[in-house]
Amino acid sequence: MNSLTPSQLDLLQRALGPTRVLEEHVLAPYTTFKIGGPADAFYEATSADELSTAIQAARKADIPCFVLGLGANILVGDKGFRGLVIRNAARNMSMSPDGVLHVESGAIVWPDVIRYAIQCQFAGLEHYAGIPSTVGGALWQNLHFLSPAPKRERTMFIDEVFLDALLLTPENTLQQVNHEYFGFGYDQSILHHSGDIVLSARFNLEKGDQQNMNRIVDENLAWRKERHPPLETEPSAGSIFQKIEGIGAGRLIDECGMKGARQGGIEITQRHANIMINRGGGTASDVIKLIERVVTTVKDQKGHILKPEIAMIGEF
Ligand SMILES: Cc1cc2nc3c(=O)[nH]c(=O)nc-3n(C[C@H](O)[C@H](O)[C@H](O)COP(=O)(O)OP(=O)(O)OC[C@H]3O[C@@H](n4cnc5c(N)ncnc54)[C@H](O)[C@@H]3O)c2cc1C
Repeated sequence: MNSLTPSQLDLLQRALGPTRVLEEHVLAPYTTFKIGGPADAFYEATSADELSTAIQAARKADIPCFVLGLGANILVGDKGFRGLVIRNAARNMSMSPDGVLHVESGAIVWPDVIRYAIQCQFAGLEHYAGIPSTVGGALWQNLHFLSPAPKRERTMFIDEVFLDALLLTPENTLQQVNHEYFGFGYDQSILHHSGDIVLSARFNLEKGDQQNMNRIVDENLAWRKERHPPLETEPSAGSIFQKIEGIGAGRLIDECGMKGARQGGIEITQRHANIMINRGGGTASDVIKLIERVVTTVKDQKGHILKPEIAMIGEF
């Protein structure tokens, strides 16, 4: 049931265009897990201006709103989202001659942004090849990757090349903020609790050799192909549980013999014990039940408490 009043819907449609606000729109196709019920209202923003306008319209009409990137780090409830979901497809980008990359926050890190940076011969982002993310999602979580190649065996974080960002604050003002403001950590940034929305960002890249960057991309893609289920045929949300320093959530789950464990349409993949895949028809309720089974089993057998890494969105 749509929770928006006719006057709230009217306000949205006036601000965003009557044909572009979709009612009762199912969210599953917009997530990498292919799970999630309908949003009361759904709008696709194709520029930073449209993103800003949509958020301000929702706030003015007192409508809860959620900004969706590629939906690669979230689980949307089976009952969907009460309010407005804004899919961020603001994807403009440009490069200055000295390697400052300016991107709108809906730009897709791989392949779009990385391919563009390589084409312009600037390095620093190629390490994140193969990870599904918009720029906004990448800053929200401080996108990271443990590089597999020799000499680069350390976790690299996207904030290492981040310069600054233009935010829409909860007070509806525009604010240019620098690296320090974000308080980046492992899977952490101020965006988790500030209510700010990233409209665009700038990255400081260094002159790089195209051949070398393409090699890093190929190595990382090959590494992923070997270890991760392919999203096209085995939808997932990446790692389900937060890292446990020095131990690894996946290893604990594996040691409990839970690879292949199944709940409805959801299965812990044989490839990686910290990844659940949607075998078809999987629901958010299946995911939650399997998460609970894993948490209980790992606690009983290993004495560690696993915590989900993915954000739970909407009604379950
Ligand atoms: C197969 C697979 C592999 C993965 N591998 C990795 C990996 O190696 N390393 C890693 O770090 N992550 C990995 N992930 C997780 C995921 O790719 C990242 O967390 C990614 O940054 C999510 O980006 P998104 O655009 O999909 O964000 P979403 O999932 O759409 O959103 C995540 C959060 O960010 C918020 N958000 C999005 N845009 C904005 C914005 N403009 N302003 C403010 N808030 C915003 C959303 O509201 C939401 O709360 C993987 C995921 C999958 C499915």
